[in-house]
Amino acid sequence: MKVPFFKPSFSQEEKDAVCEVIDSGWLTTGKVTHDFEQEFAEFVGSKHALAVNSNTSGMILAMEACGVKKGKAVITTPYTFVSTAASAVHLEGDVFFADIEKETYSIDPDSIEKILKADTEHKIVAIVPVHIAGNICNMKKINELAKKYSTPENKIYVIEDCAHSFPSKTSDGYAGTLGDAGIFSFYATKTMTTGEGGMITTNDDNLAKRISQMRLHGMNRDAWDRYTSDKASWEYDIIAPGFKSNLPDVLSAIGRVQLKKAEKFDQQRKEIVKIYNQAFKDCDFLTIPPDGEGNAWHLYLLRVNPEKLDCDRNTFAKELQEMGIGISMHFIAIFHFSYWQEKYPEFRAENFPNAEDKYQRTISLPLWPDMTREMAEAVIEAVKTTGKKHHVR
Ligand SMILES: *Cc1c(COP(=O)(O)O)cnc(C)c1O
Repeated sequence: MKVPFFKPSFSQEEKDAVCEVIDSGWLTTGKVTHDFEQEFAEFVGSKHALAVNSNTSGMILAMEACGVKKGKAVITTPYTFVSTAASAVHLEGDVFFADIEKETYSIDPDSIEKILKADTEHKIVAIVPVHIAGNICNMKKINELAKKYSTPENKIYVIEDCAHSFPSKTSDGYAGTLGDAGIFSFYATKTMTTGEGGMITTNDDNLAKRISQMRLHGMNRDAWDRYTSDKASWEYDIIAPGFKSNLPDVLSAIGRVQLKKAEKFDQQRKEIVKIYNQAFKDCDFLTIPPDGEGNAWHLYLLRVNPEKLDCDRNTFAKELQEMGIGISMHFIAIFHFSYWQEKYPEFRAENFPNAEDKYQRTISLPLWPDMTREMAEAVIEAVKTTGKKHHVR
């Protein structure tokens, strides 16, 4: 049986919602997007939600609003998708990388503190934790560090990369409300999708205002406001050279339907996780993914244990693929990319032992809402067969 890595879960409802927008004649950002923002803000419990055309655009906007620019810098993890770090570079800022924890994939607060301590010039204006696979980072510690090392002239913000963490939730609230801002992704393979898209959540009025203007050319009024307000539609000011990062209503229409299904999707993914965990927990050649409070389980990050196998992760993964199992890698740690190696000479695998160890051993297995039990069992069968074949005696 072939099992794809991911398939989005759509029904007639998304198609109807799109047709309704097309029939309305209003295609850019308008009422549907405003409704989507309001519903998303209500869902996670944030004061503001600002729709954007990707997580990457959202990250650039949030960093810009937090003061990332030439001479300033962010701290993030090498265990993420490159856009998290590249966003700072687009603003001419610098990036400091903190290793991840030994037992989880989350950025290590101790490693963050070492960097903050050494930052005597106060270059750092934001810490960007990434809730890998939906597992929430140690936000209490990270917020404490941001506070401790902020000065009256240089506030350090916490921007959560929530690309994997919808809907992750701790007793303190949803991911995206635990720092100063949270950036979600609605890319095609994420836990809810609009094809491409993203959302920025924040409780900070100043951040929200700056982001909402900068996402649309630096304009102080958006198209919907100019269309609906009593004020003349051609009257607006430009406060800065802004970006073009708004989310159109066609995509927001899909998002509103997906949002309604998010909790069902969450339950469905967790059913598959239960089946995987049960099957893999006693295999000595495997380590099952770490789990924490409110994990949304966007990814199933399975680790192979090299000391029990006569092959490496790449061979293991290739053989799964040959058996028709759609696997993936999350992530190639950023220090393996030539651009980043050239940019920062110290940015090498040997300086990030935890990230490198996880990267060398991890395979992402298929995990999506409409996956059947039979599909999960086909994945398990393939993993166990490969493990037996390569097990050292
Ligand atoms: C997918 C992803 C992004 C980028 O999201 P886009 O919406 O494609 O820009 C950023 N960070 C992480 C951790 C991701 O997985």
